[in-house]
Amino acid sequence: MSTDVNALNPTDRVSSIKGIGPQKEKSFNDAGINTLEDLVYVFPRSYEDRRTLSDISDMKVGSEVLISGKVVSKRSNMFSRSAPLSLLVQDDSGVCEVVFFNGKFLDKLFDIGTYYTFFGKASKNFDRNQLIHPQFAKTGSKDDVRGIVPVYPSIPGVSQKEIRRIETELKPLYESIEDFIPKSLQENINLASLQYSLENLHFPTDGKKVLSAKYRMVFSELLTLETGLMYMRKGESALKEAVALSCEMGDRFASELSFELTEGQKLAWEDIKNDLESRKKMNRLLQGDVGSGKTVIAEMAMISAASEGYQSVIMAPTELLAKQHLESFKKDFDGYGYRPEILISNMEKKEKKRVVDDLKSGEIKILIATHAVLQENVIFKNLGLVITDEQHRFGVNQRKNLSSKGEAVNVLVMTATPIPRTLAVILYGDLDVSQIRTMPKGRVPIKTGMVNSEDRDRVYAKVREELEKGRQAYVVAPLIGDSERIDANSAESLYKELAKEFGEYSVALVHGSMKQEEKDERMEAFAKGDINILVSTVVIEVGINVPNATVMVIENAERFGLAQLHQLRGRVGRGSDESFCFLITDAENEVAVKRGEIMCQTTDGFEIAEEDLKIRGPGEIFGTRQHGLPQMIFADLSRHGDVLEKALESAKRLIEDDPELKDPDNVALKRRVKSMFGEEIALAL
Ligand code: ADP
Ligand code: MG
Repeated sequence: MSTDVNALNPTDRVSSIKGIGPQKEKSFNDAGINTLEDLVYVFPRSYEDRRTLSDISDMKVGSEVLISGKVVSKRSNMFSRSAPLSLLVQDDSGVCEVVFFNGKFLDKLFDIGTYYTFFGKASKNFDRNQLIHPQFAKTGSKDDVRGIVPVYPSIPGVSQKEIRRIETELKPLYESIEDFIPKSLQENINLASLQYSLENLHFPTDGKKVLSAKYRMVFSELLTLETGLMYMRKGESALKEAVALSCEMGDRFASELSFELTEGQKLAWEDIKNDLESRKKMNRLLQGDVGSGKTVIAEMAMISAASEGYQSVIMAPTELLAKQHLESFKKDFDGYGYRPEILISNMEKKEKKRVVDDLKSGEIKILIATHAVLQENVIFKNLGLVITDEQHRFGVNQRKNLSSKGEAVNVLVMTATPIPRTLAVILYGDLDVSQIRTMPKGRVPIKTGMVNSEDRDRVYAKVREELEKGRQAYVVAPLIGDSERIDANSAESLYKELAKEFGEYSVALVHGSMKQEEKDERMEAFAKGDINILVSTVVIEVGINVPNATVMVIENAERFGLAQLHQLRGRVGRGSDESFCFLITDAENEVAVKRGEIMCQTTDGFEIAEEDLKIRGPGEIFGTRQHGLPQMIFADLSRHGDVLEKALESAKRLIEDDPELKDPDNVALKRRVKSMFGEEIALAL
């Protein structure tokens, strides 16, 4: 049964384990498990405590029980394959019936007079205690079902018993799996070793040991994460100083605007100005609700940089948004002598080349771009300031690359999504935060109402009223299921309905599975006023600004999260006219109703974010994918804040002492970091 120890290698394919043939191997591969090391890293989801035997007479219907007893009788039908096998099992307290359907081939596994241990859910057959399809083993045998039993994630086609057997065979391999936590650190903070942790997670004997093994796994994941982030930031932190930029020009620009800055904008500008005018490198997050006027702050910073002879760039997540910025920048900077330029993927080759050349020569001072600017051939002459708009749309690596295009670049990141403090620390390190919590004057708060789908006529009447005044409307349909196709269909049917209902107006459809150009084209037409009603899926979520749009209708509102509803609603109410938002829903569940109520009560994004946190719990908000962080198995950022802080501290020290992670004690960690972040971490260096 046992495989030759020397024959196993962590990098071997899973089929090198006895009993894993091509079919099972495929099942493992489909679950992303390819090598023996991958198998070792398949960890129990939970544990069943099967340490205490129950007396048969004490079996409680519906609960999981572990019993041990002697088989006193067997009953099966020798001639029918499908007939059940029925055993009577006896201990000192009583008798229990154990039933296996399709029991014929199990028959020979049980000998009368022999003791077996069973684990399963207790039921009753009339007055008799019963176990149906329990797990079983000969009492005292090495397959005994007693003990703390790990429950593994289910892998189609592979039973729990089999996974447990495989894990047992892999035990000898632990010695050859590299422990990537530096020895000195491990000793310093008294952390369990990898070998100890593997052993106790797969073969638990004691709750405390499992806990310290888990702690080790959580810590090691977070340490890898933080070390990776530090490693990427290393260049920046080594160069704490940045160019000092006088902000006189920004002040002048602000004083010549057609409006006065809001209190919140003034405070945020104060922060930014302090950063820019000192030699301290700016590393600031600017949070402000949709429509709070972050763009003008970016303009003030950028024009200041330009007046000091430095280049600056603002990176937007979509081409449409970039184009929109270009339009307003051009208008706003008119007469100042700084011509903003744009760099996106989708532009004429010749024009792109010119922009790239002019960036290199320093001709262009103010650039608006998408991630196209991240390409290697885009080189700046003297980049002094980098701004990312709608920050949450970008991954960690994209951010790093942009600021590495200059020597001592000031960084401003802007977002409409308030990011919880802890997460901000993870993502941006020692980031400063400014918030704009006031809205520009003259904004009429958006009237929000929750309505039943039967009242749709009333909603349409309001839409018509607004259209007659020359205004425009958005109608948004949700994602249904995971499939883009279904999603498109539902927006499509809505589109058909509305095209009929509003036959005299121009109605257009935009959804996620359309070509980008087609989407942009229609959204631009809407922005120009050529389209009256825009039916869409959530694709309009990001930053589009159409002040003439005054109605937002959200279908199946229950399918959207609060943050999303808030973002969507923020598309209207951008002009001086009163705007309306209708949440159409028939849902009666508590969460959906609560969300609707909050939306009707307030338009303050920070307040909504707080409520959102309460309703959803931190788990979802911390979802690592959403923020471009690598996936982790044990660590949960919403629960492990304290471990995170320790990991952060250790990572800082590690990188300070050994910025390249060259020390022999640290190279394994460096390898681990690379495999966690993928190759991009190499690009960031
Ligand atoms: P966001 O913070 O969502 O990016 P924008 O910067 O797009 O918001 O601003 C939304 C609109 O508000 C723009 O049309 C902008 O010109 C206008 N705006 C910004 N600041 C003010 C202000 N202090 N007073 C009046 N209007 C303002
Ligand atoms: Mg914006």
